Amino acid sequence: MLCPHCGHMDDKVLESRQNSSGSTIRRRRECLACGYRFTSYERIEEKPLMVVKRDGRREPFDIKKVERGIRITTEKRHIGQETIEQLVQDIEDEVVLKAGAKREISSKSIGEVALRKLYTIDTVAYIRFASVYRAFDNVDQFVEEIESITHKLK
Ligand SMILES: [Zn+2]
Repeated sequence: MLCPHCGHMDDKVLESRQNSSGSTIRRRRECLACGYRFTSYERIEEKPLMVVKRDGRREPFDIKKVERGIRITTEKRHIGQETIEQLVQDIEDEVVLKAGAKREISSKSIGEVALRKLYTIDTVAYIRFASVYRAFDNVDQFVEEIESITHKLK
């Protein structure tokens, strides 16, 4: 896998873990060139999990978008890498659980799951996430907005 830090192609897998529903394999990797540690997610599923937006449109669930939102909101909060990865994993597990056999969940429910989990970790990050998330229905739009806010704060 491509190292996000230096672009090297070889790494070793330190740890592999399946989430509780068995839909994702998370691998901790270490770049053989620079030693940078990162995580890859592999999805094992036949039927994609769909997000139902407020306007009724559907799109495939993408945990990476949620992860981006979480990373942006927790920026400079000194929250450990492992804590953030665990948080993202917990959010995904609960989203999968809530979606159930229908494999459908509303975008609102996803936001609420993320907020509830974030609250237990960091209040400032929670407030950042909440203030932006409440106003949006679309995760892409949300990530764009929160990025522009974060840039203004720098
Ligand atoms: Zn590297």
